Amino acid sequence: MTVLNWKHHTLIQALMSRGPLKEEELFKIFADVTGKYPQGNKREFNDYLLKINKELSYVQMEMRCCRNQNDGGVCYGLVNTVPDDQSKLGTKYSVPQIALFKGVIEAIVQDVTAQGSISNIDALNIRLENQVQTVTESESQEGPSQMPPALRNFSMSQKEKTLDELVRDNWLCHTPEGTIGLGARSYLDLRSWFHSSGIPSCEVCNEAGVKGKVCQNEGCTARIHHYCLEKKISQSRGEIVCPSCGIQWHHGVAKTEVIEEGEDLNEPSQSRPRTGSKRKKMKANKNMAAETFGCGSSQNSQSGSGRRITRASARSS
Ligand SMILES: [Zn+2]
Ligand SMILES: [Zn+2]
Repeated sequence: MTVLNWKHHTLIQALMSRGPLKEEELFKIFADVTGKYPQGNKREFNDYLLKINKELSYVQMEMRCCRNQNDGGVCYGLVNTVPDDQSKLGTKYSVPQIALFKGVIEAIVQDVTAQGSISNIDALNIRLENQVQTVTESESQEGPSQMPPALRNFSMSQKEKTLDELVRDNWLCHTPEGTIGLGARSYLDLRSWFHSSGIPSCEVCNEAGVKGKVCQNEGCTARIHHYCLEKKISQSRGEIVCPSCGIQWHHGVAKTEVIEEGEDLNEPSQSRPRTGSKRKKMKANKNMAAETFGCGSSQNSQSGSGRRITRASARSS
């Protein structure tokens, strides 16, 4: 029988109260409560997550990690494992607010250019009546007359407020470009919905390619996450071809910092090491977790496997 102690509780409570956490944030909490840094103690870290998930499964919840496709960073969160993905906003949001959220999500994932975001104007102009059938599960009659007053009377300023609230709750986010993208919580929670809704998967990691680079070959729908593409380019050290149609991939990806693997992977001392090498360590840690939990960068990962911490951990121990 698994018994959780205060250290497990602290990790769970941090995720519950502070919402999805960036990997480095969770690692810091882990280091604070256990005195060990996950980087140097993979097995122990895995063991913690495995135990936590075993207990959480009794309340149909799961601790999960995934990549936030906006920046490629790994994040951790608690998600509901009951299958109705779209209802996970819970009762906090009203019917028109959920309709707006659904509309934004659909507009983003249906974008064939895989921008991963839409403009503020487009978000505000989403027609809620298009969402009404699925939200209220009313009869199949259509037309504005069938629309509940709550939807019909939902004003522009209410939409604006809702978008702000969804951003605050991490369901959506403001991108650096000034558009509205999916938040960490959506990436964590809607993973299975992404797959079932037909979004093309990333050719490299198999996760849904919400935001990525699309093959230039007309008629080819292959897409690769920007962070997966960067990795692929740095591995191939040259031109790459589309994994699907085989034409040369013209990558116009801005070269960001190259991850220096294998460097400085020692466990930092217990006192806060806040030196110039911090960023580099964070990057290296990101690789570690991605490989450990299948968070999206493994080239050999299969769709649906290794995505859950429980399975990945069970396999690696
Ligand atoms: Zn990918
Ligand atoms: Zn192609």
